[in-house]
Amino acid sequence: MTNLLDLDPPGLAAFFADRGEKPFRAKQITHWIHQRFVDDVGAMTDLAKPLREALAAESRIRALPAIRDTTAADGTRKWLLDAGNGNAVESVYIPEDDRGTLCISSQAGCALDCAFCSTGKQGFNRNLSTGEIIGQLWHANRTLLADGTRAPWIEHGRPPITNVVMMGMGEPLANFDNVVPALRLMLDDNAYGLSRRRVTLSTSGLVPLIDRLRDECPVALAVSLHAPDNALRDRLVPINRTYPLTDLLAACVRYLERAPRDFVTFEYVMLDGVNDTDSHAHALIELVRHVPCKFNLIPFNPFPGTEFRTSPRERIVAFQAILVESGLVTTIPGCRTARSAVWQPASWQPLLPDAVLAEAMSCADLTHG
Ligand code: SF4
Repeated sequence: MTNLLDLDPPGLAAFFADRGEKPFRAKQITHWIHQRFVDDVGAMTDLAKPLREALAAESRIRALPAIRDTTAADGTRKWLLDAGNGNAVESVYIPEDDRGTLCISSQAGCALDCAFCSTGKQGFNRNLSTGEIIGQLWHANRTLLADGTRAPWIEHGRPPITNVVMMGMGEPLANFDNVVPALRLMLDDNAYGLSRRRVTLSTSGLVPLIDRLRDECPVALAVSLHAPDNALRDRLVPINRTYPLTDLLAACVRYLERAPRDFVTFEYVMLDGVNDTDSHAHALIELVRHVPCKFNLIPFNPFPGTEFRTSPRERIVAFQAILVESGLVTTIPGCRTARSAVWQPASWQPLLPDAVLAEAMSCADLTHG
């Protein structure tokens, strides 16, 4: 039985063409599923009854079922989704005044085994299908609307989720063939209609697939950097042994030739005594000298058995100050953006409580992006 969530716009067009239906049926169905969030073809009242009956017999609309649904005091909401065979993935909704962001998973587990990542320690289980990926966005919008979530843009008829970050469990580019159709649905005006600037894919650095993404669906790009030299990055992000920093940064420059943003976001997890010294910061500045970029400094979220500790807050702030001094836009999640050399430590104020930050971090293991 076909899960209609698995079909991107060309896939839906082919699905209806195979059944002798007109191409506009694909747009109608896309609208019902991805803008009105229905899960029952019987509710699609502008389709002829025989077509609805045929669809009901051979298709379904099903996202991964939620097995846990928790909301923090500030509204951050995490869904644990059952991926079958004892596997679970997460999606996390992070509300802010001017946007609603959803962090999405692309794989159950991950094969890349980054040293600081709890997902990597679990190993790889399987790729999520297109329907299981886009279904996280569908489910979040549908649930938030059903729960009466309020935001100014919702009152103007837009769905609750305005931004998507592919920073949850898994390396999205390692599941390229399922991720890209999901991205296309996010961008399609008949579906979610998000601009490419509002959809960010985070990768650990699969260079050939960064090039392919640039050619096929250039959304905003984030890269898990985490180290300023190959020796340290080989240890923290093992895929660096295959695609070392010179190749990775060259791919970033090529990506920007077609990217919707004029910069790459480099994610940098702050590991106490490992990658957080002043000399690491200065080496980073040298490393990215020719790449338009911004940095996101992420406090490490410890997990049982890890060898790492998070850098003290004062160290993260001092590290940020060095990057900012050089002209690099550098943020710490939950903190005010520091944009210039006139940045002052006294202006640093958490916008989110630590508990919420920890919640958001565990989605991305945000280390991944
Ligand atoms: Fe995989 Fe990302 Fe974790 Fe690395 S950081 S192991 S790529 S999920």
